Amino acid sequence: MIKLSTLVVAISLALTPQAFAEQVKSPSDKAVKLAKDTILIDTHIDVPYRIHEKWVDVTKATDGGDFDYPRAVQGGLNAPFMSIYIPAHLEFEGKGKSYQLANQMIDSMEAIAQRAPEKFAIASSTADIEAQFEQGKLSIAMGMENGSPIEGKMENLQHFFDRGVRYITLAHSQSNHISDSSYDIRRKWKGLSPFGKKLITEMNNVGMLIDVSHISDDAFYQVMELSKTPVIASHSSLRKYTPGFERNMNDDMLLALKKNGGVIQINFGSSFVTSKAGAWYKDLKSTKETVKKEGTKPSKDFDAAYRAKNPFPFASLEQVLDHIDHVVELIGIDYVGIGSDYDGVGDSLPIGLKDVSSYPNLVQGLMDRGYSDSDIKKILSENTLRVWKQAEAYAKKH
Ligand SMILES: [Zn+2]
Repeated sequence: MIKLSTLVVAISLALTPQAFAEQVKSPSDKAVKLAKDTILIDTHIDVPYRIHEKWVDVTKATDGGDFDYPRAVQGGLNAPFMSIYIPAHLEFEGKGKSYQLANQMIDSMEAIAQRAPEKFAIASSTADIEAQFEQGKLSIAMGMENGSPIEGKMENLQHFFDRGVRYITLAHSQSNHISDSSYDIRRKWKGLSPFGKKLITEMNNVGMLIDVSHISDDAFYQVMELSKTPVIASHSSLRKYTPGFERNMNDDMLLALKKNGGVIQINFGSSFVTSKAGAWYKDLKSTKETVKKEGTKPSKDFDAAYRAKNPFPFASLEQVLDHIDHVVELIGIDYVGIGSDYDGVGDSLPIGLKDVSSYPNLVQGLMDRGYSDSDIKKILSENTLRVWKQAEAYAKKH
């Protein structure tokens, strides 16, 4: 008989480091069953922008992309929040184009539900999510990434609520008329704008969840002071593992989030999970800038050629689990969920979490780390449903 340790060494010598790292064990039947029997909510999937750029029918299997119906069923996904994502370009903010694009993307989500009503249904409440789970339908919930379509008019908040949007990420990669962005060093408002502050109160009153992903730290703390209901960080990870990356949350913010009763939904994108992956993107960018400064236009396959020469340092499933562990250790099991950013982070997803079919791997990883079934259910949906129900209850009274 061969000793296990010898066997492991033998296998690892036979494989390249990359191939060895990609050996993720298949999830157990129990993990698959738990993913399928529990409502599974992912608060950030970028299907609307993906099909806006290059249309495909996600009600059937698709080549490429991270989401389609068959893979969602395989992974036990029940309720993705589809991201109504508006780029932060000047051509959108302030020229009426944000409002238009947001409405077109909502139309495209309704089209999916109407094209395959036996598979999909729009969900605009927690009751919809629960009922459609029982009916075996995949719920399409909607969150708006970037508040620019509000265009400074409170009636637009009601308009998008009426169309089914249930959270708004206040800003994206640049400061807008509502809030400063973590990626934008200009800090126009030193947090929220005067309109943004009023908007928080109105969002509470209407029952629209506030998403604090993407905004600056100052804006985050102002939201913490103003919001009467718990908030979400729909697709953020932890600064503990990515020092200096303001887009992720630090420990002080997690403690404030606990006080607020909110939930952080962990982003799977490698650059959100490890500093190494973030640094790879920075190096790619600066290499490109250098080429431009030298007077040459980077070729179309510049990124691919760079990647071939400099292999991308994919994060691992274990590193994603480290983020969940740290939230749980610091503030408890009731404040963490899943916000993968599938279809939003290109080819940067961790080994073992490549697309919507891979949630059972995450469940297996949590089981291996000693999480109970009831803990895992909280992460898969119960925490997010709790916050959403609190927003619904508050709006009912106001
Ligand atoms: Zn985002």
